Amino acid sequence: MAQFILSIDQGTTSSRAMLFDAAGDARFTAQREFTQYFPADGWVEHDADEIWATTLAVTREALAYAASSGNPVAAIGITNQRETTVAWDRATGKPVYRAIVWQDRRTAERCAALRGAGHEPAVSAKTGLLLDPYFSATKLAWILEHADGAADLAQHGALAFGTIDSFLIWRLTGGAVHATDATNASRTMLFNIHDQAWDDELLALFSIPSSCLPEVRDCAADFGHTDTGVIGETLPIAGVAGDQQAALIGQACFQPGMLKSTYGTGCFMVLNTGTTPVVSRNKLLTTVAYRLQGRTHYAVEGSIFVAGAGVQWLRDKLGLIDSAPQSEALASGLSSNAGVYMVPAFTGLGAPHWDPHARGALFGLTRDTGVAEIVRATLESVAYQTGDLLSAMHSDGVRPVGLRIDGGMTANNWFCQFLADVLDVSVERPAQTETTALGAAYLAGLQCGMFDSVAELENKWRCEKAFTPGMDEAQRAELLRGWAEAIARVIRS
Ligand code: ADP
Repeated sequence: MAQFILSIDQGTTSSRAMLFDAAGDARFTAQREFTQYFPADGWVEHDADEIWATTLAVTREALAYAASSGNPVAAIGITNQRETTVAWDRATGKPVYRAIVWQDRRTAERCAALRGAGHEPAVSAKTGLLLDPYFSATKLAWILEHADGAADLAQHGALAFGTIDSFLIWRLTGGAVHATDATNASRTMLFNIHDQAWDDELLALFSIPSSCLPEVRDCAADFGHTDTGVIGETLPIAGVAGDQQAALIGQACFQPGMLKSTYGTGCFMVLNTGTTPVVSRNKLLTTVAYRLQGRTHYAVEGSIFVAGAGVQWLRDKLGLIDSAPQSEALASGLSSNAGVYMVPAFTGLGAPHWDPHARGALFGLTRDTGVAEIVRATLESVAYQTGDLLSAMHSDGVRPVGLRIDGGMTANNWFCQFLADVLDVSVERPAQTETTALGAAYLAGLQCGMFDSVAELENKWRCEKAFTPGMDEAQRAELLRGWAEAIARVIRS
């Protein structure tokens, strides 16, 4: 009898549950969106109870499908939006405040003050991160200061903190387990990635009591069992990783030098650097790739805020295209970009520039510029931004071998080929593009014995289409020069 792994993928806009079989094939998906709250400029919140309700609903749908198909679920894996911060009362399980989402910028001033006081080098040395509101530490500090009763609960050891994985584990186990995995811990800015432990100096710096912290476990580990009263079954929770790390695992990037890039709304590029953390001199992050059997593998990560979001903007704000896939025919219908460059710095620039004040711009317009040129420039901009991340990795002394891609935008073959051409690396798109959910399933499957080893997972990876660089050097240099000029003109800080 075949068994399934149930993968819970708790994302920024929706909660999903997928069933994977032992071949790594997806057999069922359920998905529910939930409310985004924007209570003030730069603030982004989720209702943790709604996250739980949507997760529970899709989990039940998946379990019902498994039962009806006669395939039992062997284990549960969890992957989640990272950094998003929840604090709840240990006695009641009730959150004391809405979840503060990774995008939330309310603690920008606090971060700037800490940077001004000279704390960034020490924080970076321990965590591999930059002193930015993105990470959980200042969000939790804010909740402790502002949420009714939070400080009081914390003082009595009655407050629990968690990223979304921890919160879901707590709820699924009926409050029996308060744990997280090393990848999620590495995004809190409270965790020393070298010692693999919560760091007392960081806790003191952010005024966080250690009593609220979850226990940090390997990515494939025993995270307890679901409470029968909660989902009607007792199932082991056996694998956990943050979304980008789960995608790295789903892409089977287990060897040092292997690199994946996910092109959804934004783009996240993660490079496996093996058991040695590489410290970036170019504002890339050092983070935990995964921890298996007590052995930590590290990654270098760079993120771009606008990837597919640029295509959405062409569709929804400019009305230049009716659908995202239309961008492919428009771009491929031109023989060149005609000198038009688009910098989609709608919310500033991410790595390696990190300029929150930069804003978007179009350059090189002439009387001949039309819809196709602007669409093409938008697609090209995502490839150039990826090129900037890759150059930063090169100057940090790491040389990736090839690039595995996934995410909605990689359905665009013209974009994928242009990416290979501009980066001058071979770009591979896998047969299974649901890499995030698959990664969590792989972790749970390793722990429960459905998969024997990482080598077995490496063998499962299948290339659906490879894009080989074919652009001549002079043309590439010319395009990159045009892009560098455009970027230089939008940078403000
Ligand atoms: P997310 O997980 O961030 O919601 P997805 O991986 O689902 O993102 O990808 C959706 C994004 O991909 C959208 O921003 C959309 O504009 C873009 N996209 C989808 N199909 C195409 C296409 N054929 N060409 C270019 N962009 C596309």
